[in-house]
Amino acid sequence: MSEPYDALIARAREAHLLESTAEILAWDQETMMPPGGVDHRARQLGLLARLAHERRTAPEIAELLARCDAADLPDEAKADVRELRRSFDRSASVPAELVQERSEVTSRAQHAWARAREDSDFASFRPWLERVLSLERNRAACLGVPDGGELWDALAEDYEPGMRAADLAPLFAPLRERLGAFVQELSEVHGPSNRCNEIEFEIDRQEKFVRRIATAIGFDFSRGRIDRSAHPFCGGSHAGDVRITTRFHRDNVGDALGSTMHECGHGIYEQGLPADRVGTPLGTAVSLGIHESQSRLWENHVGRSAGFWRWCADVATEELGSAAAMLSADDWFGSSNVVRPSLIRVEADEATYNLHVVVRFDLERRLVSGDLEVADLPDAWNAAYREVLGVDVPDDRDGCLQDVHWSCGLVGYFPTYTLGTLYAAQFFAAAERDLGDLEEPFACGDFAPLRDWLRQNVHCHGMRYGAEELCRRATGAGLDAEIFLNYLERKLRPLYGVD
Ligand code: ZN
Repeated sequence: MSEPYDALIARAREAHLLESTAEILAWDQETMMPPGGVDHRARQLGLLARLAHERRTAPEIAELLARCDAADLPDEAKADVRELRRSFDRSASVPAELVQERSEVTSRAQHAWARAREDSDFASFRPWLERVLSLERNRAACLGVPDGGELWDALAEDYEPGMRAADLAPLFAPLRERLGAFVQELSEVHGPSNRCNEIEFEIDRQEKFVRRIATAIGFDFSRGRIDRSAHPFCGGSHAGDVRITTRFHRDNVGDALGSTMHECGHGIYEQGLPADRVGTPLGTAVSLGIHESQSRLWENHVGRSAGFWRWCADVATEELGSAAAMLSADDWFGSSNVVRPSLIRVEADEATYNLHVVVRFDLERRLVSGDLEVADLPDAWNAAYREVLGVDVPDDRDGCLQDVHWSCGLVGYFPTYTLGTLYAAQFFAAAERDLGDLEEPFACGDFAPLRDWLRQNVHCHGMRYGAEELCRRATGAGLDAEIFLNYLERKLRPLYGVD
């Protein structure tokens, strides 16, 4: 195309080869590696991370970027250059000593967190969290606070480019108020039974069942694998080799199905990125929020819909055996939509999940600004859970020590989970606007129209557009929390018999 652009892309692809090699090693560590491999694997991953970082921040990259800016490039190439410049500028603005200190401190803080959580001992984690937050504030200052923004914004940019706390506040306020009140209303009536997720099914049968669903919704096993791990995730090296994991409990088939459909959503997105753009921004997912929209769309808008269960109840009987034969489509639909305020985010249902995120966003923003002292976090956490979710937190283990994120230095990350929920609802509504009601095809086990719509409107663009612009192009409007709230109430009010 043009010499500096081609050279820049070749460098990006080389760095991606190193990073994607690390991805496969990380997948192996979680699924296959014997415990004896831990130390050597840490050294392998450390070396690959350093080599990739050196390639991404080499002085010649700055020179190639400058020459690309001066060249007359087509729009797609300009998008590549824009994103490579963004990531180069961010990497280059943080001194190497700070990067190294953060990596060492967070690695030790994670161990301290795991111990503190086990003993429900916040006092022992407190100095670590103070150190991590102080490093994150320094890092934010190096990265630069956007005009009119706050320190938190500079950190969140790593996960959701362009996201500002001030833009999130008006999206999250209706969740706190309207969703909070709705959940309260549901908790006062006798809701559907959770019986489908309490019956014991053999793990081998569950595995065959979820693999059949993964195939039906379009996860391509010739370009991906599903294995088991304690915490389900989506990894892999590129669109041709996507590795997802899931988990099984004898008495909770809903968890296996939900986890599998969730990770398949991430995987189908990765498989749908343009194969000829591997290792370049146009072959890369836009943001964590958009990635999460794809997982939540399949997990919730498909896997918890009445149409899906009209088809899937029979599949469940075929794969899970006679114990499932007594369960009707209505039973399954009901059990997959039980809403119950609880303490633990990762076990939360479709509705209350977002209230857990609302609490974290508020507390995290105050911790970064200095408005909330780390020492006061447990009290603030417990008060917020009482106010927003209506539950009493018995101890810090199931309270402010439950998530690993802050110990890893992942500050600004939590809101992407709920952004994903909101984007998912808006994409799904737009797909139904374009394709008509999707319950009927779902009831026939036909998920291709939805998958193709996502391919054409989301996956194929890679990072060509930012999240907000992608949303406008696909749905005709900017992100709007009302669409999610309306969807949820439309589904749950009749099921709970509240109007
Ligand atoms: Zn996810």
